[in-house]
Amino acid sequence: MQKALTIMAFILIVTVIFFGINMEPSDTPSDKVITIENLEEIKPVPPVDFYGFQKDLFTYEEARVQRNESLYLILRRHGLSPRQIYNIQQESRDKVNLNRMMPGQYYRIYYYEDEPVSFIWRQSATQYVSLGWQDDLLVENGSIPINKKMKEATGVIHNSLYQSILSNGYSRYLGSELAEIFAWEIDFFALRQGDHYKVYYEELYAGDELIGIGDIKAAEFQHRGQVYRAYHFENDQRRGYFDADGNSLEKELLKAPFRYNQRVSSGFSANRFHPILQRNRPHYGTDYAAPEGTPVLAVGDGVVTEAQRRGGNGNIVQIRHNASYRTAYLHLSGFAPGIRRGAKVEQGQVIGYVGQTGLATGPHLCYRLYINDRPVNSVTADLPASESLEEEFMEEFRVIIHRMDDILNQLELVEQIASN
Ligand SMILES: [Zn+2]
Repeated sequence: MQKALTIMAFILIVTVIFFGINMEPSDTPSDKVITIENLEEIKPVPPVDFYGFQKDLFTYEEARVQRNESLYLILRRHGLSPRQIYNIQQESRDKVNLNRMMPGQYYRIYYYEDEPVSFIWRQSATQYVSLGWQDDLLVENGSIPINKKMKEATGVIHNSLYQSILSNGYSRYLGSELAEIFAWEIDFFALRQGDHYKVYYEELYAGDELIGIGDIKAAEFQHRGQVYRAYHFENDQRRGYFDADGNSLEKELLKAPFRYNQRVSSGFSANRFHPILQRNRPHYGTDYAAPEGTPVLAVGDGVVTEAQRRGGNGNIVQIRHNASYRTAYLHLSGFAPGIRRGAKVEQGQVIGYVGQTGLATGPHLCYRLYINDRPVNSVTADLPASESLEEEFMEEFRVIIHRMDDILNQLELVEQIASN
């Protein structure tokens, strides 16, 4: 006991010296007294793995469930008797359905002094079931804590962002996250060879297995020679990506494509009676009963992907705003000057005029909003907001920007290995 105390005191002194040296002057605690009571806290804990097994006492074998393999076959192969397995299955029946093991899932058999004592069935990246039969049968549902690791990634675009991400060995999730952040700034359908990206982000691990990415803390995208930087900000009131001036990277869409309020004559509906076709048909848009010739506005910046006369739609304009948002404007009497396929438009720009071309009983605009190619109700949709960061958060944000710029500036561009 005397000896143990001496060792602990030694650890304590070393700890104090260690932290003492590393402490920032401003952080020096003046009144923190270390007593025998809280010595307990600095006693080393024996290392356990993420299933809770003490590493120096247990060994394990890990494998994946094979096709046509059952718990019975697995446990038999590890030396359990049919009787033992029967008991395990019977006694665990109320807590877990062991027949639902699927090929490809991981499992572990833990050994204590060369005897199999426990079986772990990893149901998903973060969920598992633990069966232990060392004494009485123990059945537990567990979850694996997620660890975050900071990671850096850079690359130059040769074909696509996705290909660059993959050939540089980064997680495929990174590409979609990046595209989302810069969705309003960069047209990912029109990337140029030589465009590049730099990212500082979190990787999420369950144990030591990569299961996805967390927040991107900062990112740079260079597109056609122009550099865009995005910074993550999060507190209990705001969360999002902003540029260095605190402007939100999300741009908003107008709620409706008019300068003045117009009356909705027919709303979005999965099933409505069509006045001309005389039958029920989904109506994936909002009809506005506006006078013929009323100017129709682009609800957001974007590129015109269609401007032509097409069947029942009449004169139609379609605009792609970014990788996920698209809008369509139907039954127009005509197009505004310069509105043709490929033209760039700005939010609020006149693109055409209300008419009744195509299948229409009177002058009206049928306005349609698509998110990821699915029609949504523009009136009720939760559209992206573009509020910039409040002044009160800017000081905190500038500290983040400063730190992130340092990180992004020192990242070197990695050239992907040429592929054919
Ligand atoms: Zn309509």
